[in-house]
Amino acid sequence: MVMATALVDYSAPIYFENNPILTKKNLFVDHHHGAAVAKQMIGDAFRQRVESVDHESCNPGDEDTFFVGDLGEVYRQHMRWKKNLPRVKPFYAVKCNPDPKVLQLLAGLGTGFDCASKAEIEQVLDMGVDPSRIIYAQPCKTNSYVRFVANQGVKQMTFDNADELRKIARLFPDAELFLRILTDDSSSLCRLSLKFGASLDATDDLLRLAKELGLNVVGVSFHVGSGASDPLAFLKAVQDADVVFKQAYAHGFDMKTLDVGGGFTGDSFETMAHVLREALDQYFPPHINIIAEPGRYYVSSAFTVACSIIARRTIENPITGETSYMVYMNDGIYGNFSCIMYDHQQPVAKILRTGMRTYYDSALSDAVSEDVCAGTEYSIWGPTCDGIDQITKSIRFAQELDVGDWLYFEDMGAYTKCSATMFNGFSNSHDVIYVCSEPGARAILRL
Ligand SMILES: *Cc1c(COP(=O)(O)O)cnc(C)c1O
Repeated sequence: MVMATALVDYSAPIYFENNPILTKKNLFVDHHHGAAVAKQMIGDAFRQRVESVDHESCNPGDEDTFFVGDLGEVYRQHMRWKKNLPRVKPFYAVKCNPDPKVLQLLAGLGTGFDCASKAEIEQVLDMGVDPSRIIYAQPCKTNSYVRFVANQGVKQMTFDNADELRKIARLFPDAELFLRILTDDSSSLCRLSLKFGASLDATDDLLRLAKELGLNVVGVSFHVGSGASDPLAFLKAVQDADVVFKQAYAHGFDMKTLDVGGGFTGDSFETMAHVLREALDQYFPPHINIIAEPGRYYVSSAFTVACSIIARRTIENPITGETSYMVYMNDGIYGNFSCIMYDHQQPVAKILRTGMRTYYDSALSDAVSEDVCAGTEYSIWGPTCDGIDQITKSIRFAQELDVGDWLYFEDMGAYTKCSATMFNGFSNSHDVIYVCSEPGARAILRL
């Protein structure tokens, strides 16, 4: 393996809340070197596990799907955040992947947490995180949960309608409220504004009602949609938030914080961050706190999943004479590939093991081009009896796949494991083998 040399200086000063373990020295993150180390570690973890499973003799469950999670990647994403959005404090959206090690690392790094249910809030509080580092970012809350957070001192929460304001006035009048506004989320993977957010026609009336009820509005929040792809959505949302801040000042509220929500992806992060940074500096003076609720951004690339092929069906094309195969894996859209249904993801299969050889991060893992019609065509299916349980309609590999072989899929850390079901009696609880490719993260986790 070739170790890339440092091309980018990620040693820019980074501010950490309450972490005595972190010294200036181990704050240095070299992304290129880190990524190369990560590949090595992930590959080793995969190799060790799949080479220990013999599908001809193993017990049920031994050949199950498993993840390799690189906590160093989460750490690198945090450093990338600090570098590009130094003004914006991330509150990790727990729903995206409530992995306990990820939460522990982020707690150690000093992030906040965006939670939407009692269980999520409890999981974060149980790690010893201060209630002030949690935002209950669900505009439509359960009564008993509001009583619960009032008891726990989790004060920050969002609202977007009058009924919710009356609920909060009854159950938790001291809450610190963020008015969630609608955004144009038409360019995102998962639109959220159909369900949540007050339109700008409604915000002034809501603020008036909040004042009448004696409530404490402290901020505005928005979410440009999960998997957002148009950076200008952030600009427009920041401009709208500015309008609502002015309305709130006019009603006499002491506005302290803008919450720019989630929607960041690893692919387009620098572009998004650039637009957002400029918009924030233009519209929001330095004394306004800025927070965000990134989910996908932190974890998507940190998890890779390996699945084994449990069955194969041979298809002969009577006209061309070509042989193709349907391969059935032990994981599908009712399992960790729920992201295909719920999150519109398109995971890409790569070969991990075939013909008694393990390949990871090599050209032999990759599909061959569809256009040249090289190799053999496969469709990839999940293990349940439902016909919609398909992972990939058509993909070509140079190598021949058969039962007992393994495939792997990268970027499987967001909205995968957490929304898996046990439909048809298949497990939704899969091992995660953790590796940690960054010394700074190892120090926090004491590994
Ligand atoms: C889901 C969600 C997030 C996280 O969104 P990502 O696209 O994963 O960053 C943040 N805030 C709220 C309110 C959400 O519902």
